[in-house]
Amino acid sequence: MEFGRIRNYINGEWAASTSDEVLINHNPATGAPISEVPMSTAKEVDAAVRAAHAAFEEWRRVPAVTRARYLMRFRELLEAHYEELSVIQTKEHGKTIDESRGETRRGIENVEVACGIPTLMMGESLEDVAGGIDCRVMREPLGVFACIAPFNFPFMIPLWFMPYALATGNTFVVKASEYVPNTQTRVFEIIDELDLPPGVVNLVHGGRQTAEALIDHSDVRGITFVGSSPVAKQIYRRCGAMGKRVIAQGGAKNCLVVMPDAELDPTIAANLTSFFGSTGQRCLAGANALVVGQDGRFNRRYLETLADAAAEIKLGDGLDETTQMGPLQAHFRKERVMTYIDKGIAEGADLLLDGRQHALSTATAGSCFLGPSIFDNVRLDMSIAQDEIFGPVATVIRAGSLESAIDMVNSLPYGNMASIFTSSGKAARTFAHGVQAGNVGVNIGVAAPMAFFPFSGMKNSFYGVLHGQGKDVVRFFTESKVLIERWF
Ligand code: NAD
Repeated sequence: MEFGRIRNYINGEWAASTSDEVLINHNPATGAPISEVPMSTAKEVDAAVRAAHAAFEEWRRVPAVTRARYLMRFRELLEAHYEELSVIQTKEHGKTIDESRGETRRGIENVEVACGIPTLMMGESLEDVAGGIDCRVMREPLGVFACIAPFNFPFMIPLWFMPYALATGNTFVVKASEYVPNTQTRVFEIIDELDLPPGVVNLVHGGRQTAEALIDHSDVRGITFVGSSPVAKQIYRRCGAMGKRVIAQGGAKNCLVVMPDAELDPTIAANLTSFFGSTGQRCLAGANALVVGQDGRFNRRYLETLADAAAEIKLGDGLDETTQMGPLQAHFRKERVMTYIDKGIAEGADLLLDGRQHALSTATAGSCFLGPSIFDNVRLDMSIAQDEIFGPVATVIRAGSLESAIDMVNSLPYGNMASIFTSSGKAARTFAHGVQAGNVGVNIGVAAPMAFFPFSGMKNSFYGVLHGQGKDVVRFFTESKVLIERWF
């Protein structure tokens, strides 16, 4: 994909935005300019929503099996462009090519699940609810929905929603993150080959104002949002005030509870991936390790092995197959993470491994590379234990018992994911039942639900009722119509 001004896709046509406000993004590994993104105007958002609105009545009457066949073709084309799509993600986000391949796989899986819509969308019925009277529930589409997506999964996250919206007979507008617009642009070039009726699915680029124009548009029936918690909460309120449906998935501060009976080697391997995979820019990234118990030998081995392995992580351009950790997505994100390293030191935690000292971290001015950092002797009230840092920083906190570890997890404002590492079924069960987190792992570092399960979240990590992916999102995109009939 060549560098240049990104275009919108509205009513089945590529359209240049007239906005003179643009953002230029760079490949975080090389510094080369990679995209010039227009902040599309309210008028352009209106054009996309009008196109989607006009397409709705016909699209909802297309039989569900036919809608599914468009998605089957979409799946085939995504599969054919699998590697190319993964490379684009790495170039604009920085994650390693293997992490991008994983993201592409997870995105395609959602298209596969949505292909089952004739079954997923079925209603229910009961004969003789009263003498000679039958009752059935039909699930109907509602109209135009939109997705406002974050920067950290440029391919997958719009696919948590868009395939299901189309499959259920709704029409759709995607607003990609302004920091990673190339991936969805390529996805829409592929969509263009599907010969869908014009307007069924549209793409508008931009930032906050573009997103707000979508949310506020009177023809948009609901919003799907994934991003930081303050924005999620704002969008939830804004949609609520207008009576719109909303899924608003927010940020995270995930805890990994390490019990003294955990299998050390696989636990450390899983913790490492959880802390430093995707350079820590993942809503399911581990952030706080809560190491349980007074077994000094175990705790020392856990810490030393973790720090030694983290120090060996190979940084580099994600396109190099031997790279184990890519750069942060942009330089301002690296600066933000570094302020937390300063805060951790000021708060009195011990910096066991300093990512700023990594060879690649200081090599070039403006570089987005930052090595893994580990803080030991962290207290839960420190900002490094409370705030979402969204970078390669792990904190280690001591917990006296499993119960106190669960209390610590539950005292945090977020509830996206929590994992326990143990060889005790009893401890795992106590944890799974007691912990306030939407996605729970047992000996799993990144507890990511697959496409046929909801991507859950609790507390400040999620505002709404139904979640993205699977049956939940099918319900979100449909209304129950109840038919009660008697024939004389
Ligand atoms: P962000 O909240 O800054 O932006 C997300 C999207 O919202 C972007 O498209 C942006 O243009 C738009 N936006 C920004 N401010 C807005 C506003 N005031 N009103 C309307 N739209 C607005 O998030 P980000 O930095 O792109 O993504 C990282 C965050 O996303 C992290 O907090 C991460 O934990 C979270 N995340 C959560 C999940 C999940 O499933 N819970 C998954 C991935 C990422």
